[in-house]
Amino acid sequence: MTIDFMEAVFGKETEVELPKEETCDTCDGSGAKKGTPVNTCSHCGGSGQISVTQNTPLGQMVNRRTCPHCQGTGKIIPEKCNTCHGSGRVTKRKKIKVTIPAGVDDGQQLRVSGQGEAGVNGGPSGDLYIVFRVREHESFVREGDDIYLEVPVTFPQLALGDEIEVPTVHGNVKLKVPAGTQTGTNFRLRGKGVKNVHGHGQGDQHVIIKVVTPKKMTEKQKELLREFASIGGNSPDEYSSSLFDKIKRTLKGD
Ligand SMILES: [Zn+2]
Ligand SMILES: [Zn+2]
Repeated sequence: MTIDFMEAVFGKETEVELPKEETCDTCDGSGAKKGTPVNTCSHCGGSGQISVTQNTPLGQMVNRRTCPHCQGTGKIIPEKCNTCHGSGRVTKRKKIKVTIPAGVDDGQQLRVSGQGEAGVNGGPSGDLYIVFRVREHESFVREGDDIYLEVPVTFPQLALGDEIEVPTVHGNVKLKVPAGTQTGTNFRLRGKGVKNVHGHGQGDQHVIIKVVTPKKMTEKQKELLREFASIGGNSPDEYSSSLFDKIKRTLKGD
């Protein structure tokens, strides 16, 4: 059963339609047209099996085989029921109520007892197993009970700090981004993930900060940025030279 991301997170009452074999109502399972007889197969005497005698170099061998005249049913139906064509069983589509458990994950299965196929000769019905396939979400990425979300933020927001609004599956949440936050920083929103399907608590949401570089800027913005860069003290050279130093040190092995 394929379900949406949010249906898996919060669960849902739904229905599934299943093909189910049932006794044919028209002939009450006999397979014969109303008012016509069901005859015992004369070839096998109703046992459904015949003995075949073979002459082999070791003597006569007797094999028992399925009777080809009645296909092992032991019965011959001269006039077959139009509904089931003699099988006595019909395939119906049956609707079954299913509760998708909150927190279910892709590939997990649910047992619905007694909703499988009817047992042979009036035996108890089997169980129905539903395997869930969960569709991916456009933005939220699920890992176990945790959810990951990349949130785009501007450079000034990271440099100066800001309070941003972050979507979660439980609604929007305010998040304080401290001044000087680096891109790629992971903030954890406790309890904002998925409820564990077995009742073991609740997952978290991880907010991964991603700086976005403006593709279009006004002349004024460019001018201010150039000015910012020229003041220095915070130039990328500072970071890159320390990066080069670090790499040099690891190459030397000290
Ligand atoms: Zn037969
Ligand atoms: Zn029938």
